[in-house]
Amino acid sequence: MQIPKSFKETMLKHALENYPNECCGVLGGLNNTATAHYPMQNAANSPYRYEFEGKEHIEVSRQIEASNSELMCIYHSHTGSEAQLSDTDLRLITYPDSYYLIISLMNLDQPDFRAYKVQELSGWTNDSPATYGNPIEEFIDWV
Ligand SMILES: [Zn+2]
Repeated sequence: MQIPKSFKETMLKHALENYPNECCGVLGGLNNTATAHYPMQNAANSPYRYEFEGKEHIEVSRQIEASNSELMCIYHSHTGSEAQLSDTDLRLITYPDSYYLIISLMNLDQPDFRAYKVQELSGWTNDSPATYGNPIEEFIDWV
């Protein structure tokens, strides 16, 4: 996936502004190339999870559609843990075709950006209620 370097800076800025709470947002784009960055508010206001604000989510989806692009990547920050999808993250996946990117601020001097794609799970049980899992890390090409 290609992401402009300028988005890396604005995503990091958004993450630091929300610190120690998690931040969230999306990237619109086409053909695995991000073309628009939409920083969003974390309606959960929490250091442990994120939640899009309903109206803003609808508005951003409209803008992405109006620009003939796709919801390419959903990102959020982890302020106290590594840049890996948590069990909670996997349970809350609603756009399995999208990339999921995490910015870890666990080491503030060295923010870590990692992106993943997930797979649909077949063995769904009450013990592990996630519908998606097996995150595969995807290379980010900062352009
Ligand atoms: Zn998370």
